[in-house]
Amino acid sequence: MRCPFCDIDKDKVIDSRATDGGRSIRRRRQCLSCNKRFTTYETVEEKVSLQVVKKDDSRVPYSKDKVIAGVEKAAYKRPVSVDQIVALAESVEEDLFRRGEKEIASTEIGLIVLNKLRTVDHVAYMRFASVYMDVDKVDDLLEEMQQVKDEAANAPPREQGKLF
Ligand SMILES: [Zn+2]
Repeated sequence: MRCPFCDIDKDKVIDSRATDGGRSIRRRRQCLSCNKRFTTYETVEEKVSLQVVKKDDSRVPYSKDKVIAGVEKAAYKRPVSVDQIVALAESVEEDLFRRGEKEIASTEIGLIVLNKLRTVDHVAYMRFASVYMDVDKVDDLLEEMQQVKDEAANAPPREQGKLF
């Protein structure tokens, strides 16, 4: 890699780590001529090609930031940390890219988010469901929510531990 400071094409990699949920490699390099350090990123080119098909059939490039923003809104004033939201978005993204498809419906992304949000926070889950999902999916959702309620009802009460 050509040094951005002195333009000499001789460097060594001094640090190399995965970033962006494992989809890019960040390399810290040191120029062997001027000793200055610079950073390069290696990513898969195909990554940019994922298009989201919206309800009106228009296409927009997939954006992890939008997933994060949507979950943040749903988790407003809930005990959900930024780290949890970012981890959720990265896990959603991994699922999306593992499909290897070039297009995905926005409602399908919504379902993947919902599925993961369910285990994080029930209120955020229901808020997200009400904002992002299609009306024709409401029956599925009601069924899902009933399942969540049943799971909560079957869970041992929290106070139980204190008795012993
Ligand atoms: Zn240099």
